[in-house]
Amino acid sequence: MGNIIQNDQFKKGLQELLQNKKFKRTLKIIYKENKNQILSVQSCQIFDNEFSIEQRLEQRKGMHFIFEHNCKILLDVTERQRYFDSCTICNKKLKFDRNLNFCSICKQETTFQLAYCLAVKIIDQISEDNQATYRAIMFEEAAKYLGISAKDFSNMSLDSQNNYFININEQKSHIVHSLTLESNPNKKNLVIQRILA
Ligand SMILES: [Zn+2]
Repeated sequence: MGNIIQNDQFKKGLQELLQNKKFKRTLKIIYKENKNQILSVQSCQIFDNEFSIEQRLEQRKGMHFIFEHNCKILLDVTERQRYFDSCTICNKKLKFDRNLNFCSICKQETTFQLAYCLAVKIIDQISEDNQATYRAIMFEEAAKYLGISAKDFSNMSLDSQNNYFININEQKSHIVHSLTLESNPNKKNLVIQRILA
């Protein structure tokens, strides 16, 4: 290596590079660190993701597709859509018919469990001024993101849940995540399938 720069400088430079709107690609570097010292760079990849979410949706209008995109995640205390009763066989929302233990979607006897269907905001980091915001739904990933199971979360009062959201926002809302997003023309909202980083 030629010039040896301070780790802080390296990280700051990287952050600037990733956030630079004129730079229409994302450089993804995975590195190991210990006590803020970079030990080794494990991989380096450049992604072409110059299109905003709006452009991607426009390009594939009416299609069902999955894509990776860089977004920030913001939990919204005004959202009441947080969890639901899910069929333990097909994971779909259990619609209670006459029989409480029968799933009308997979058409069999089943049990149900509480699962997340958390409505959040995602902020497109490729969009103009990095401000374009979309409503997106998080299922299994929500437990990881919030760090609590749907069952435990649902046992909290609404105030406690909202405070929980505010805390997580303070810790994480500035982070740019690489998300796997699903767009389905039959559904109003994007689905966050995975939070990759
Ligand atoms: Zn089912």
